[in-house]
Amino acid sequence: MNSIVSRAKELLENKSVQVIVGFEAGPTGKARPAFVTYPSKTDILIFDERCVQNLAVYLTKKEVKQFGKIGIVATLPIMRSIMMLISEQQVFAENIEILGVSTEGKYLDIADIQVMQGYIEKCDLSNPSNDQETLAMLNKMSMQEKFDYWQNELSTCIKCYACRQACPMCYCTRCAVECNQPQWIPVQANTHGNMEWHILRAMHLAGRCISCGECGRACPVNIPCHLLTMQLADQAHKYFNVYAGTSEKMSSVLSTYEPNDKESFIL
Ligand code: SF4
Ligand code: SF4
Ligand code: SF4
Repeated sequence: MNSIVSRAKELLENKSVQVIVGFEAGPTGKARPAFVTYPSKTDILIFDERCVQNLAVYLTKKEVKQFGKIGIVATLPIMRSIMMLISEQQVFAENIEILGVSTEGKYLDIADIQVMQGYIEKCDLSNPSNDQETLAMLNKMSMQEKFDYWQNELSTCIKCYACRQACPMCYCTRCAVECNQPQWIPVQANTHGNMEWHILRAMHLAGRCISCGECGRACPVNIPCHLLTMQLADQAHKYFNVYAGTSEKMSSVLSTYEPNDKESFIL
């Protein structure tokens, strides 16, 4: 997209940013992340239907932060992730320039975080349409059917943690699965341990998942693990009227309360 290339070039030339995180075509023709530091190299940047990865995951990586201020090509899920990372004080708005892309694939001039918030608020923030059919099917299942469905799906998990690595909200320097004192989650992949790992991760993402689907896309054995966190995103909206990544000041659903909160969940 010409507007992205020219904006990226301008930002690097006038030293407003030190690196642009965007997409380029890889050797097999698939889009892959690109990290451009020279204005003369911005021509490699692309944006088309192949560019689906959630690039916000790189904003918290020290290898990228070391460059300085970052310009990032941002679709709606990436904008929502950035908003979450700002609200959780993992990145700072003044250290980021947004090269926005609308849901129709058009370049968006995003001058600052308030403009980005205004754009996000106008968008449909429900789960992606291609996942809604399976989510509706899961919602109709009994507890036992749901348990059986997930036990079957997760039985092939090899605990590679690619789902965690791909998720912008899984930025912990030491993930709970890497703790061995106490050992919360068994190291080996087995039926119960796999369930424990995915339940733990889903609870950590409850009300924080911005429904990008990246964890599911990253899974080498095609486990639809994104549906677990998307189900909780639905619940957060249903019970708390919250969509993650809509404000730079949003509080976490599971770690805040109000005195007049309903207590119907207490048995
Ligand atoms: S869909 Fe997956 S990768 Fe995306 S925010 Fe939710 S948990 Fe993270
Ligand atoms: S699974 Fe939980 S502990 Fe591990 S990186 Fe994600 S949020 Fe952090
Ligand atoms: S990416 Fe797939 S196989 Fe790897 S830990 Fe996640 S669900 Fe399991």
